[in-house]
Amino acid sequence: MVKQTIQIFARVKPPVRKHQQGIYSIDEDEKLIPSLEIILPRDLADGFVNNKRESYKFKFQRIFDQDANQETIFENIAKPVAGSVLEGYNGTIFAYGQTGSGKTFTITGGAERYSDRGIIPRTLTYIFEQLQKDSSKMYTMHISYLEIYNECGYDLLDPRHEASSLEDLPKVTILEDPDQNIHLKNLTLHQATTEEEALNLLFLGDTNRMIAETPMNQASTRSHCIFTIHLSSKEPGSATVRHAKLHLVDLAGSERVAKTGVGGHLLTEAKYINLSLHYLEQVIIALSEKHRSHIPYRNSMMTSVLRDSLGGNCMTTMIATLSLEKRNLDESISTCRFAQRVALIKNEAVLNEEIDPRLMIKRLQKEIQELKDELAMVTGEQRTEALTEAELLQLEKLVTSFLEDQDPESRLEVGADMRKVHHCFHHLKKLLNDKKIFGNNTVSNTVSSESKDQDCQEPLKEEEYRKLRDILKQRDNEINILVNMLKKEKKKAQEALHLAGMDRREFRHSQSPPFPLGSPEGQRMRLSSAPSQAQDFSILGNRSSLLHKKTGMREEMSLGRQEAFEIFKRDHADSVTIDDNKQILKQRFSEAKALGESINEARSKIGHLKEEITQRHIQQVALGISGNMAVPLMPDQQEEKLRSQLEEEKRRYKTMFTRLKALKVEIEHLQLLMDKAKVKLQKEFEVWWAEEATNLQVNSPAVNSLDHTKPFLQTSDSQHEQSQLFSNKSSGGWEVQGQGTGRFDVCDVNARKILPSPCPSPHSQKQSSTSTPLEDSIPKRPMSSIPLTGDSQTDSDILAFIKARQSILQKQYLQLLCSLSPKSAVSFAQPSTNRKGLSDVLVAR
Ligand code: ADP
Ligand code: MG
Repeated sequence: MVKQTIQIFARVKPPVRKHQQGIYSIDEDEKLIPSLEIILPRDLADGFVNNKRESYKFKFQRIFDQDANQETIFENIAKPVAGSVLEGYNGTIFAYGQTGSGKTFTITGGAERYSDRGIIPRTLTYIFEQLQKDSSKMYTMHISYLEIYNECGYDLLDPRHEASSLEDLPKVTILEDPDQNIHLKNLTLHQATTEEEALNLLFLGDTNRMIAETPMNQASTRSHCIFTIHLSSKEPGSATVRHAKLHLVDLAGSERVAKTGVGGHLLTEAKYINLSLHYLEQVIIALSEKHRSHIPYRNSMMTSVLRDSLGGNCMTTMIATLSLEKRNLDESISTCRFAQRVALIKNEAVLNEEIDPRLMIKRLQKEIQELKDELAMVTGEQRTEALTEAELLQLEKLVTSFLEDQDPESRLEVGADMRKVHHCFHHLKKLLNDKKIFGNNTVSNTVSSESKDQDCQEPLKEEEYRKLRDILKQRDNEINILVNMLKKEKKKAQEALHLAGMDRREFRHSQSPPFPLGSPEGQRMRLSSAPSQAQDFSILGNRSSLLHKKTGMREEMSLGRQEAFEIFKRDHADSVTIDDNKQILKQRFSEAKALGESINEARSKIGHLKEEITQRHIQQVALGISGNMAVPLMPDQQEEKLRSQLEEEKRRYKTMFTRLKALKVEIEHLQLLMDKAKVKLQKEFEVWWAEEATNLQVNSPAVNSLDHTKPFLQTSDSQHEQSQLFSNKSSGGWEVQGQGTGRFDVCDVNARKILPSPCPSPHSQKQSSTSTPLEDSIPKRPMSSIPLTGDSQTDSDILAFIKARQSILQKQYLQLLCSLSPKSAVSFAQPSTNRKGLSDVLVAR
């Protein structure tokens, strides 16, 4: 049993704006217990200007200042906990602090860089590394990911997550058994046999969390997320199993309702926004007071789930995340105060060992059989009849598998039957003699069996290696495609910039769209815009099928919406991150590729060396036989040299292989980050799109006869005009790629209702609701086209009316054109950009 108080650490987040000095100081020397002093600026204390300088001092196990990186945090905080989990103790690490102080950054990691990965992915890497090193035990890992929002538990790894919003999912509920052990109903456990699988589960959960979040529920700041690694271990042959759980907890933001002003004692009375944090505090207070017999764990789901972590069988660590800026000082002080209380709580961690009844039964059955056999031998009960053919064959098989079994402790069990024992010996002798005669020379056999030994792991590696190489090749191609696309995009953006500078009218009349719809170029562009963008991310999806489903939203979009999405994406800040990550990925791929080649070389070199050694042996033995000389006892120098070369090559191979494996994990991580960024982008786009749709409906002007003809004339027109609006909003590189789809029809009301607004940024709805001078300079366009009533009968009447009017207008245009020039009438009949001119003629009329 390990008795320990909860360990408390502090981590100070780098400020958004620099020059925040003098607000706090860290004293690491004071009798070896580091302390953090928060100094109130004079103008802040009591809310009045006064000359009193107030400061608060808090002690922590260790304090990590702004410059502490994720590696340091992992090494100092998480690694020791992970170590005891591997030994069989429960562990918990929870991050506590106000919103924005770095809880998620610390627990899960940053969304951009691989080096920013947090405690969870690093712990997974560490645990899997250790499992691989320790061959004395058999380990199994399961993962669960629970979110507690509003006192309800949700399974972030529930496969039904995709279709439902958070609230529709079956709730995870708490069951308590007679021994007061907590069980969670509806929380799925997923086995993870590799680091990649575990990582995929983490990202799947995070993506689910992001998708379920709405501006209303603000789940990320108001919910608690508990990522749990369940680890079981067992020694081979033993019936004792160890179970350990590691909870990695990202708590809700600890901010309180009332900003009471620092320094006032009111501070302690301020209430949490989050009720369950209030209950957590109650539990902590109860635990830190000596004579309390009742601890109110049951008051909230979070305290029930973390019951063992708080004052129970667990090694618990708290990280107080602090954002020590002037305006956050009161929250930071209350975070530190909370930590001081937590530090008083004593936990008693015990090894969670239990006997597996099934394994026990097996063991006992074996023991009984052995005893029976022994008894039979002792009592001299011998059978005399001959063994059948089948029995003999069975015995020979047993002998063979016994010889092949690599386990040094394996046994040849034939029971207490001397006939069988004799036959086995007989058979063994035969095998040995056969080997002597046919094996020709035992030496070469030993060599080949040795090389077999060495090779026994290699088919696996070989297979994995081949897989990796295929993936690399595939990724390489994909990257080439992506790079080409990016080049094209860049070129187009430059062109658009150039065009945007031109006079709008001139543009409308003199320029056709970059790639007219009917032209082969246009076709190509469209082909390469939509699907290749999908490919953009689907390459990531190939590998993580779990997440791929999440990014499938795209396929349901109409083409118009996809175009809007492309534009939205291009201007989004995250696209820079995605591009950066793509670059890094590219580097990693080429590194992996080069490494793959070197590994290949090393492998063939190893093969050659082995071959040479074997040859040498054969020669030596042959020499010995022909010359009737004994095989020289002295080690052959040439062979020694070859062997040391072989060892060296093997070492090199191993190092490169380890690096390739690490690269694989990094590539996987980066791809998952990109997947996540993509889902985030889509989600934000959906929100923006919905907002735009609402704005358009609100702002939509009354039906104007001419305006309404536009969408029905031909959608490529309306989209083209939209695209011109984009280019003319002088939004820099904005342009619409791929022209109208021609697919919009009367029924596609929704699509038109929410045509993308010219404003590219998600925050631009403010601009679009208030008209800017620029907008005024552009003639009003039919933004939402047809205002519908929602009543199907009335709506279909409206649509029928507009359709009829449109066909009359179309006839009029044709007549008009025929009178002007027969040639243009022909071109009008084809779906081409000439219609632009037509509609302008119409507008002019
Ligand atoms: P919380 O989860 O506590 O609300 P986050 O972890 O989301 O806060 O952090 C808020 C922002 O600050 C994020 O953009 C995050 O990347 C950044 N951040 C937090 N801690 C650090 C740190 N130690 N170093 C760099 N950036 C950080
Ligand atoms: Mg967070």
